[in-house]
Amino acid sequence: MLNNKVVKMDCLFCKIVKGEMPAKKVYEDDSVIAFLDINPANPGHTLVVPKKHTETIADIEDSDLEKVIVVVKNIAKKLKDELDTAGLNIVQNNGKLAGQLVSHIHFHVIPRFAGDQVIITYQRAQVDENKMEEIRKKLTEEAAPAPKDLDLDF
Ligand code: 5GP
Ligand code: ZN
Repeated sequence: MLNNKVVKMDCLFCKIVKGEMPAKKVYEDDSVIAFLDINPANPGHTLVVPKKHTETIADIEDSDLEKVIVVVKNIAKKLKDELDTAGLNIVQNNGKLAGQLVSHIHFHVIPRFAGDQVIITYQRAQVDENKMEEIRKKLTEEAAPAPKDLDLDF
């Protein structure tokens, strides 16, 4: 624990939170830290990180997530004002399969500029109506777990 915040000894971002690893900090409060990505997709690429260690969006407490997303918004506004961005991507990877390299939840705030080389894409599938309906049912009343009981296995 650090100031009542959970930390994980071998976690890179926990080390940045504790000041044991350097980072180009752009924002910090009691619960959230934001710093420039060491390998940015574009200049100004910022990572917004809750200080308390959890791995994924399924683990983080609502109150911490609320604080983080407000900082994401403020960083986005700052990037727009100061770097004159033409657009912005917010990326949040969960699990190795989805490209999560650092197992401490974080949001990427990626400024976009005309003619940049950033590629954020995925292939679009054709819609199978039955499958869509099956999924919709699983995600609604038929499945029925309260959101806080969801057990997402990332
Ligand atoms: P992920 O793939 O987990 O969503 O993203 C992890 C991000 O952390 C990557 O974009 C990577 O460049 C960044 N990163 C990894 N190690 C460090 C570091 O030591 N310092 C900083 N500032 N960023 C890092
Ligand atoms: Zn951590």
